[in-house]
Amino acid sequence: MTTAFTSRAASRVASLGTTIFTEMTELAARTGSVNLGQGFPETDGPPDVLAAARHALAHGANQYPPLNGTPALRLAIAQQRLRRYGTVYDPETEIVVTSGATEAITASVLGLCEPGDEVLVFDPAYDSYPAGARLAGATCRRVPLRPSPGGFDYDPDALRTAVTPASRLLLLNTPHNPTGKVFTHDELADIAEVCVRHNLIAVVDEVYEYLVYDGRKHITLASLPGMADRTLTVSSAGKSFSLTGWKVGWACGATDLVSAVRSVKQYTTFATAAPLQDAVALALSDGEAWVAELRGTLQSNRDMLARGLEAGGLNVVPAEGGYFLQASVARANVPDALEYCRLLPYRSKVVAIPTQAFAEHSRPYASLVRFAFCKAPRTLAEVSDRLSPSL
Ligand code: PMP
Ligand code: GLN
Repeated sequence: MTTAFTSRAASRVASLGTTIFTEMTELAARTGSVNLGQGFPETDGPPDVLAAARHALAHGANQYPPLNGTPALRLAIAQQRLRRYGTVYDPETEIVVTSGATEAITASVLGLCEPGDEVLVFDPAYDSYPAGARLAGATCRRVPLRPSPGGFDYDPDALRTAVTPASRLLLLNTPHNPTGKVFTHDELADIAEVCVRHNLIAVVDEVYEYLVYDGRKHITLASLPGMADRTLTVSSAGKSFSLTGWKVGWACGATDLVSAVRSVKQYTTFATAAPLQDAVALALSDGEAWVAELRGTLQSNRDMLARGLEAGGLNVVPAEGGYFLQASVARANVPDALEYCRLLPYRSKVVAIPTQAFAEHSRPYASLVRFAFCKAPRTLAEVSDRLSPSL
């Protein structure tokens, strides 16, 4: 018997669809392609951190930890923020451990926005930002980052034009996925000025905080004048320590902002994986040298992939931070990046993501493709071989 199938999902959920990462990872598996779509590393995290997690599993850290996170992890987060950025958080009231940055971001939007509020995000945006806004009944207003040969330009007027009386929250990501942009001090100072002037809360996703290249510095928005009390800073162990499958993240900020996240968290996950938390505390306390090496490796991987893409006829936009390179396919013999990415697995056995998948307005990004370079050098060498001669 065939029945017409109507989804019983709530409309705000049905419209979320399947994430581009799931789709692309399945496509890579189906076509036997190298997966430069989803950003996850091919090498493991620090051995002593893995050993600490194994030890915790074997020695009873297997029941509910505190909702806020273990005391050792909250203390390590507070110390890391103070040491690196000079920002001060009370581990008792101003930090909450979450199941990845993803939970922190969605819980922030759910916990801080009323239905009808507006959330400002830079376009293109990481996919969970508009999804979080939608779940909260809020509206996402996109502020375009304009592609230029040297990178992606912040436009102060575009941000100011996007603000309305309904604007509640600005959701910023630096280093930025998918563009590779690292916001400069001047850009962040301008964004801070807008937040203060319009009384906006800033939620800043800093999951790539350690991964900035060519001697750049990551600046945390919370450290700028007027921002400490209105900023919720989100990060995670996934990218910093190549532990994306652990899903241990956190949010730090003023007590009322963190409380709003906790209120949501207590009814979504309640607590985050017990045996992993103190291992992440160890990574944050002792992992600086390990991450410095990772940063160097990623920078050289970025350069290697860039050379391969250029040799394959693409124009690479320099990536300042993060896991991803942007490359223009304008010179390839295809109508746009969407078509290029559709054909690529079949012609070259490589999967990548069209940048417009992250954007509300596809036109400015129509020729751009996001390639992940957080892979082993041999994988990137293989991609270079497969792309040359290219489409
Ligand atoms: N924000 C950005 C910008 C990301 O690229 C990712 C993917 N790691 C996340 C958040 C999600 O982080 P997590 O895996 O810790 O939930
Ligand atoms: N952050 C990863 C990326 O941008 C994907 C994470 C996920 O699959 N949700 O590729």
